[in-house]
Amino acid sequence: MSWFTGILGIWFKNKRDKGILSFFICRWVNMELHVRKRFCSICLMGLLGILGLGCSADSGQADDGNGLNDTMDVSQNRKSVGDSAADLLDGSRFPALHLEIFYVEGLKPSATTLDNFESFLMERLHKPDGVTIALTEISSPGQAVYSITDIRNLEDDIRTAYNQEGILKVFGLFIDGEYSENTENGSVLGVAYRNTSFVIFADTIREFSGQPLAPSTAVLETTVLDHEFGHLLGLVNAGTPLQSAHQDEPHGKHCTTEDCLMYWTAETGEGLINMISGGTIPGLDAACLADLQANGGK
Ligand SMILES: [Zn+2]
Ligand SMILES: [Zn+2]
Repeated sequence: MSWFTGILGIWFKNKRDKGILSFFICRWVNMELHVRKRFCSICLMGLLGILGLGCSADSGQADDGNGLNDTMDVSQNRKSVGDSAADLLDGSRFPALHLEIFYVEGLKPSATTLDNFESFLMERLHKPDGVTIALTEISSPGQAVYSITDIRNLEDDIRTAYNQEGILKVFGLFIDGEYSENTENGSVLGVAYRNTSFVIFADTIREFSGQPLAPSTAVLETTVLDHEFGHLLGLVNAGTPLQSAHQDEPHGKHCTTEDCLMYWTAETGEGLINMISGGTIPGLDAACLADLQANGGK
């Protein structure tokens, strides 16, 4: 038996072969493509575990189970919120920005939301080579509640886009279910949780936009997207230095101006419904804009 394990061990050490094995297992089971990828990752982790070869998510190598990303350095995309603020705002190191956005089936962001979001980015960032967005549907992970650890694990499982020469890459996820930190008066609609990662609780957004006289899903969704991206841009005092005293410290990395995009209520459903009047998406106030401009933004 030991010779058999040894041969398999040598075989599995080559990551490309994991891809080949995964392909055959999945062809054999004849699953839907998106189910295949998940199943194969689980299969492979189980098999490698049995063989005692192990596999660590912190190895510094991205591996989405198909062996395509073995040479990518994921460490640049696994830092703290705000750590990439200057690189996002300025175009010298990364003249292009690519967003890899995943959504659970039924929760695809609308074309209006994406257009609004793209306009927000073009207005604030120096990206002479442009901003691109790739959308990918995933099946529901099937949880009613997600913690940030759950979201991080899901990202590590499905993300394929990591920084490359000249192209800064950001991961976004539109998820079903709700955030584990929700309270009776605070339903969180989005969280920025790594330097290039954010999650939007799209089901929760729909619950609020479905209420009588509430703003549309596109308005709420755009506001939350812009707000979370504002945190990735280092607002407020989260990687982009303050140019004036406008941090609402009791509410963390938020702005003291009540109608600013970075006001703390802009990421909870209860707060946002009261904040938005007449369907207008809140913008950044002068203090937040000055911070971004001083850190390389427009
Ligand atoms: Zn916030
Ligand atoms: Zn502000």
